[in-house]
Amino acid sequence: MKITKKQLIKIILEEAEKLRRDIPAYLSPSHEESYYDRLLTWAYGEASFPIAGEAFSVKQGVNWNDLSKDTKKFVRIVAGIAKQMYGEKGRRMLVITDGARTPREQVDRIATKLKKGETPIEVMSLYSPPTPGMSQQTQKIITNIVDLLKKDPDDKEARRIAEAFIKSGIRKNAYLSSHLLGDAVDFRSTNYKDEIKELLDIAAQKYSDIYIEDETSAAGGAHWHVVVRDTTRDGEVFLSALADQRRKS
Ligand SMILES: [Zn+2]
Repeated sequence: MKITKKQLIKIILEEAEKLRRDIPAYLSPSHEESYYDRLLTWAYGEASFPIAGEAFSVKQGVNWNDLSKDTKKFVRIVAGIAKQMYGEKGRRMLVITDGARTPREQVDRIATKLKKGETPIEVMSLYSPPTPGMSQQTQKIITNIVDLLKKDPDDKEARRIAEAFIKSGIRKNAYLSSHLLGDAVDFRSTNYKDEIKELLDIAAQKYSDIYIEDETSAAGGAHWHVVVRDTTRDGEVFLSALADQRRKS
């Protein structure tokens, strides 16, 4: 019998699920979890790496460095809340799957969405009103880009022109994505959809001025997309308390 990689992954995940249900006594909760998480990481091809001294990890290839100051502060705030609520497990829950982006990387994300089976209409709606931050101009840009890429998302010439559309939009102050400004991060929602939403909501109530977009059913990779505008005074106080804790431990 011949099976595809997708089928194999499905079988392995089902087996892991059974293992969790049937023989929990074999494994301590923490072991069981990290085993399951590692398996998922492998299955979804999302190798992630811790950043030195930080209580979260980033997916391979993510541009963390070019994020805005407030966006970095926001991620640290979320990680601090996660640590208070979940201890060490918080670190494994928080995986940043996207950060700052260049225009070329933006084209790459759009092409990936199309390749992974999102429809042109789904992709276009993400970059059009009423999605916050989007305008008639961004709608025009994304319509052109999807038209270019929908036949063959890998076509080099089409990608080059798509990149030029994004750059010309930026010159006119029409940003197709807050990621281009370094003002947005994506949190992987696989496995921890509700837990992460709760963490983001807590941060939004007190510490950070943010906008949250639900992309947890996106075929191109389930995540919470967060645009960061500012850090509140309470947020700054919380961050310095976290820094004090780190110095003491
Ligand atoms: Zn995003």
